[in-house]
Amino acid sequence: MALKLQVEQCSITTRHPFAIARGSTNGYKRAWVRLVDGDGQEGWGEADPSSFYGESLETVLAAFSKLAAHLPRDPFDLEGAEARWEKVVPKNWAARAALSAALHDLVGKKLGQPVWRLWGLDPTKAPLSTFTIGLDTPEKIRAKVQEAKDYPILKIKLGTDHDEEILRTIRDATDKPIRVDANAGWDVKRAKQMIPKLKEYGVEFLEQPLAADDLDGLAEVQKVAAKHQLPVVVDESCLVAADIPRLAGKVDGINIKLAKCGSLREALRMIATARAHSMLVMVGCMIETSLGITAAAHFTPLVDAADLDGAALTVDDPFTGATIDHGQIRLPAEPGLGVRRR
Ligand code: MG
Repeated sequence: MALKLQVEQCSITTRHPFAIARGSTNGYKRAWVRLVDGDGQEGWGEADPSSFYGESLETVLAAFSKLAAHLPRDPFDLEGAEARWEKVVPKNWAARAALSAALHDLVGKKLGQPVWRLWGLDPTKAPLSTFTIGLDTPEKIRAKVQEAKDYPILKIKLGTDHDEEILRTIRDATDKPIRVDANAGWDVKRAKQMIPKLKEYGVEFLEQPLAADDLDGLAEVQKVAAKHQLPVVVDESCLVAADIPRLAGKVDGINIKLAKCGSLREALRMIATARAHSMLVMVGCMIETSLGITAAAHFTPLVDAADLDGAALTVDDPFTGATIDHGQIRLPAEPGLGVRRR
């Protein structure tokens, strides 16, 4: 019997309004799907659209309506199903990622094995996750550093006209390793000026210093950063595996997000492509429930660094799945994604 697609909506709230270089909010509407087979077995997946890539809850719901007619007859036809979905809705990465996660979840449940085990991965190789401190006043930043006390590594959002003040505030509050994300908020001159300061403040790596398409600028910044042993990782500049070859030699690594690459299998292809170019691989997220986070957590044994705090930043996560225990990502041992409703 053919699979059926059921779409649900939920809203999640972050503890603080979450601000990056492009804006701030604390309420997020999310859609998630269930793929139901003839035996009533269900695979689940979540869509986390990003307005930066032209997606919203509305575009996700419209994409699901189109995709409902293109579900595989055989849930094990993972590769074929994903390829067809990409043809039907090429610009709807978040919606496709939800269906991809749901199909992998269903296959894992049918086989009685967690997804990481289907891929032959060792869950103890999952890295630590950073905890992100969004843009805020010095006083609130100090409070957030305190809230992040269980996390051994912090990720700091920069890209403002007072970045030094933010760094100083964090450094005065903690001596933990920090990573910074400028979210395309700098130009080449500013990035070059910031690099020695970042090093001085003990920053481990720098994410997306420049606009997504400024690859020549990135190459120039990376040269300076390399002299300071500061790796440069790109996020907005790298959506899918095909983006990676032209970034090789210009940056040191990539940040994978399911909301950008559109599927679990594309995430695996990105990891392989980046490794073929000797690049670092990091995995990131949007503000998501534990359903979305857990889908990404399953391939973390293959990556160098993770920023999967999207559900940890919320106060009303409707799901349980992968957890972050003092920064350590722990993968569920249950079949499929191993996600349950709270
Ligand atoms: Mg980023």
